[in-house]
Amino acid sequence: MKSKRLRAEVVVVGGGVMGTACAWELARQGKSVLVLERSVPGAEASSAAAGILGARVEAHAPGPLAELSQKSRALYPAWVRALTRATGIDPEYRACGVLKVAFGTSELAELARGVAWQKPQPRTLSPRDLSKREPALSPRLRGGLAFDDDARVDPRVLFRALHIAAARSGVVFRSGAYVRRVVTRDERAVGVALDDGSTVEAEHVIVAAGSWTSLVEGLGIAPGAVLPARGQIVELETPGPLLTSVVFGPRAYLVPRDDGRVLVGSTMEFVGYRREVTAAAVRDLLSAAIELVPALADANLQKTWSSFRPYTKDELPLIGPTSIPRLLLASGHHRNGILLAPITAAIVGALVRGKRSPVPVAAFTPARVRG
Ligand SMILES: Cc1cc2nc3c(=O)[nH]c(=O)nc-3n(C[C@H](O)[C@H](O)[C@H](O)COP(=O)(O)OP(=O)(O)OC[C@H]3O[C@@H](n4cnc5c(N)ncnc54)[C@H](O)[C@@H]3O)c2cc1C
Repeated sequence: MKSKRLRAEVVVVGGGVMGTACAWELARQGKSVLVLERSVPGAEASSAAAGILGARVEAHAPGPLAELSQKSRALYPAWVRALTRATGIDPEYRACGVLKVAFGTSELAELARGVAWQKPQPRTLSPRDLSKREPALSPRLRGGLAFDDDARVDPRVLFRALHIAAARSGVVFRSGAYVRRVVTRDERAVGVALDDGSTVEAEHVIVAAGSWTSLVEGLGIAPGAVLPARGQIVELETPGPLLTSVVFGPRAYLVPRDDGRVLVGSTMEFVGYRREVTAAAVRDLLSAAIELVPALADANLQKTWSSFRPYTKDELPLIGPTSIPRLLLASGHHRNGILLAPITAAIVGALVRGKRSPVPVAAFTPARVRG
């Protein structure tokens, strides 16, 4: 059988939020883009995420990741508006703020110590402030911090909008296309080879294969440079919204949706690519959720799921050129890939067009995991 050959200016491996955001950006800049997805677009982590845009609540130290996160969150309102304009879909972006709460005074002091470096400082909330802002929270809470600039979005709806917007801008998606390796000629990337024997030629290759990135051959990165970090989530349903803000408790976080659903997350497990939802995780998440919001005891347990965060050992993403000319990575975004999608797309979009990145990217260089 004669093997098929396709061509595109840019080929993107992986149709999650990262691959699709980069593809949309490049198509809007006039590039012809083909996204190769082994399953269906959005099948993996990007649809499993809770949707916290936690640039401040998730920042544990000053540095390049904290800065990148804040820049990406700042892009969100305009990015979502552009998606809604292109598709008519509202991805439920809400500038709702995130509360981090504690049941004991020593835990509260620890929370304050953890953010001492942040500027501006998150607001300190008394038990009274907490119950005024979120009356459903447990009266046993001793207080908390308010990260007022942080936000939330519904990742599944966001992805649907992104997928449609990208397709309308001319991006071609091929589902069921498993990329085995990057093809090089004269030491530069010139395309990819699929496991059905076909090849796609391209001027630029972007690998955005999430937790499976290290399994794509020919990237010049160390085996295990990106590892799967499993997270489990429980979705509860209440007749009306109990919360508006995202709430981080000591053992779980709660992410409300406008229609009364509440997502309870999450675990962080290194168990390879095992997709189970475990009894112990569901028990622990439910007990933590009910401790935070006692009325959740009566909620309908709607769904559970698990998926894999693309984890890197230094917990920094891999964004930008590799040691192989014309091959870029957009991967390893771990806990914050939904948050970091707009800035990653802006960086990749600029670099592919030979322009300077809009933000410094040295800290995220794939060179640090060269294999
Ligand atoms: C439980 C959980 C909760 C989370 N909560 C949040 C949150 O609240 N906020 C936030 O910002 N982030 C969150 N995240 C992280 C976020 O989901 C990820 O960082 C982000 O989705 C990564 O996007 P991606 O496109 O890189 O990966 P994915 O969405 O996993 O997409 C990668 C795609 O590549 C495809 N692929 C892989 N290998 C190949 C191949 N060889 N050929 C072709 N296709 C291939 C896969 O099928 C997949 O569709 C959460 C993650 C989990 C698991």
